[in-house]
Amino acid sequence: ERAATSLLTARDLTVRFGDFEALRGVSIDLDTRSVHAVIGPNGAGKTTLFNVISGFMKPTAGQVRLNGANVTAASPNRLARLGLARSFQICSIFPNLSVADNIRTALALNVRGLQLLRGRSRRDENEARVRHLLDQGGLMDESERRAADLPYGRRRLLEIVTTIAIAPKFLLLDEPTAGLAREDIAPVAGLIKTVAATCGVLLVEHNLQVVKSLAAKVTVLAEGSVLCEGSYDEVARDPRVINAYIGA
Ligand code: ADP
Repeated sequence: ERAATSLLTARDLTVRFGDFEALRGVSIDLDTRSVHAVIGPNGAGKTTLFNVISGFMKPTAGQVRLNGANVTAASPNRLARLGLARSFQICSIFPNLSVADNIRTALALNVRGLQLLRGRSRRDENEARVRHLLDQGGLMDESERRAADLPYGRRRLLEIVTTIAIAPKFLLLDEPTAGLAREDIAPVAGLIKTVAATCGVLLVEHNLQVVKSLAAKVTVLAEGSVLCEGSYDEVARDPRVINAYIGA
């Protein structure tokens, strides 16, 4: 099965802004069906790494490969067709549409989703998929509510659900718990865990409790380089990591 072998790899990524190197030869392997967290102090290069992997920025050097194909600086649309999705937080939601219609729209706007729209049985299949996504996000009871009327924490769940509507093989999540109240964090973490059962998730996350609870692997970036990589417990006790955080 293709899903079992799909793999996202970044090799020796370097990004220069003038004389400044935001990334200096960063390599990362993303496994399927698990959460891989990228952590590091502000300015470490996390966002730049995400921008390169998701096709929003071309690296000065290095390569990104998806299932063996060179996709360095491939357009975000092409990457989406190849199964790589990136969440764009609240801006990907249509505020005046209902929760369910937001999910339908996400399916319809997507090239992979479009295949689901033809014919009656396809339409039934599509509605089953909408219900499944509502269920995954814990949003079933709010399916007919206007997205704009959802509390902030629920909107974040909807945002992630619209992103996974395309059934990505890889999902890039940029600080999914940022700005959330404490009680809204667990549902988002739970959804990410569910998604990771079928998908490789690359996660930039400041909340280390969330990282600890979700990530099978953690890459620590500092000043554009990989400082270390391993399980949460391995990196958390690495003196270089402790110094990087304290030094920041
Ligand atoms: P992080 O997400 O880990 O906080 P970023 O990837 O946003 O780090 O930024 C890494 C470094 O690159 C920072 O010092 C930032 O100021 C710099 N940087 C990011 N984007 C640009 C840009 N477009 N032009 C110049 N410098 C940039």
